[in-house]
Amino acid sequence: MRQYNSLRDIRTDIANGQVSCRQLVEQYLRNIKEKAELNAFLEVFEEEALAQADAVDKKLASGTAGKLAGMVIGIKDVLAYEGHSLQASSQILNGFKSLYTAPAVQRMLAEDAIIIGRQNCDEFAMGASNENSSFGNVLNADDHARVPGGSSGGSAVAVQADLCLASIGSDTGGSVRQPASFCGVIGLKPTYSRISRYGLIAYASSFDQIGTITRSVEDAALLLEVMAGADGMDSTASQREVPAYSQLLQADDKKYKIGYIRDCFEREGLDTEVKDAILGVKDMLRDAGHEVEAVDFPYLDFMVPTYYILTTAEASSNLGRYDGVKYGFRSENVTDLTSLYKKTRAEGFGQEVQRRIMLGTFVLSADYYDAYYTKAQKVRRLIKEKTDELLQQYDFLILPTAPTTAFKIGENTANPLAMYLADIFTVQASLAGVPAISIPVGRDANGLSIGLQLMTRSFEEPQLLAFSNYILDKITVEA
Ligand code: GLN
Repeated sequence: MRQYNSLRDIRTDIANGQVSCRQLVEQYLRNIKEKAELNAFLEVFEEEALAQADAVDKKLASGTAGKLAGMVIGIKDVLAYEGHSLQASSQILNGFKSLYTAPAVQRMLAEDAIIIGRQNCDEFAMGASNENSSFGNVLNADDHARVPGGSSGGSAVAVQADLCLASIGSDTGGSVRQPASFCGVIGLKPTYSRISRYGLIAYASSFDQIGTITRSVEDAALLLEVMAGADGMDSTASQREVPAYSQLLQADDKKYKIGYIRDCFEREGLDTEVKDAILGVKDMLRDAGHEVEAVDFPYLDFMVPTYYILTTAEASSNLGRYDGVKYGFRSENVTDLTSLYKKTRAEGFGQEVQRRIMLGTFVLSADYYDAYYTKAQKVRRLIKEKTDELLQQYDFLILPTAPTTAFKIGENTANPLAMYLADIFTVQASLAGVPAISIPVGRDANGLSIGLQLMTRSFEEPQLLAFSNYILDKITVEA
C-alpha cells in the first residue's frame, strides 16, 4: 500500500475501490509493529480501530460517512478518551482511566475519525525532546540517535514514520510546532481559545491549546474545522463562528506584507543551516512579489524567562490535584495524610515535573510573588502588545521554529537552561495567544528537517493555512 499524505488522496482511492478503511488501519498497525523501537505509541487500540474501520467502511458505502472518514489518528497522552487510560506519560496517573471524552476528540469521532492509539510525550507535556516521559524516549525516525522534539514527540514521529495519518497534540510553548519541525511534518497551534481545552490535561491553562500534526495543510485545516468552536464545558473557548478552513486554502494573488524578526536571525545559538534555509524562503517570497521587511522585536531575551515563570506558576497550581487521593497512583507505606501527599508526589512525578512545581511554587510565594509572577505578567502584556502591533503592520511574521534541527539524545539533558532555550522562537505565539504553524522547508547536511514558523493575527487561521500551503507548493515547484 502506498504512503498517503492527505485524507483527500485516501478518499480518492477509497472511491476508486483501491483501498478500504480496514486495509488502511491494518497497514498502520503493521507499521506500528515494525517500527516499535521508535516508542511513539504507549498503547495501540488495535481491535477498536479495526471495528471502527469496518463501521466507517459501511458508512462510506452507504454515503453516510462524516468529514473525517478514512482519517486514522493518534492522540497524545494528554487527551481524555472515555474508558481509555490517560497518564500524561507520568507514573502519578498510573491506572487512571478517562471518565469522559474531550470535546475535541468527540467531535472527530462524530465525523468518523478512527483513533488508533495513545501517544508518548514528555511528562505533563513539559519538555522539548520527549526525554521526560516515564515511558522512555521516542526516537526520531530520520536518525534514531536524535530526539523527535517535544513535548508531542510521539505524535510527531507517528506522522513522520507513517504510523497514522495525523496526530492531535497540545502546544503550551511549542509542543506541536517544535517536534513537527524536528520530524519534517506540519504542526499547527491555533489561536488560544479556538479549541475547547476540556478534557486536555492542564499544564499552564492560559497557554495550553490543542494542535494538529499532519502531512498536509489541508488535513490540518480539516481537523481544526472539526475540533474548533464554542463548548459549554470550557468557558474560555471562543464563541466565534468556525470558518470552513479546508475550503479556504486556495491562495489568491494577494501580495502580503511579511515581517521577519531581525533579532531572531542575529541570535547566537541559531544554527547557520537553519538560518540560511529560512532566509532563503524569505528571499523566495520577496522574489514572488510579496513585501518582506526586517522588523525589530526588542523582547527576545525576556521571552523564555517570562514563559517559564508563568507556566511553572500555573503548573504548580494545576498539578496540586495529583495528591494520591483523587487520581491514579498512591504511595504505599504512608503513616498520615501529609506523608501520603509527600510520598505520592515524590514517587509519582519525574524530575523535570518536580523542578517546575518547585519553581512555580517559589514564584508564587508571598515574598516573591511581585518580583517574579506579577512582573512576568506585565512582561507578557508587553510581549503581547508588541506582537499584536507588528501583526497590525504585517500579515505574517516569519522566523525559524527552532534554533537547531533535531539534537542528539542526551545532548541537553544535563542542562535544563539549554533545553529551555530550544523554545526561544515558539513561546512568542504562546505568550501572545496568536496562531502559529511550523512547515518543513528544507533539510540540513545531516538530512534533518528544518521548520519555518509563521505567525498571524488571532483567528486568522484561514490566511495562515492558505499561505502555508502556498509556500509549500512553491518550494516543491522550485525544488
Ligand atoms: N518545551 C516547552 C516546555 O517545556 C513547551 C512545552 C509545551 O508546549 N507543552 O514547556
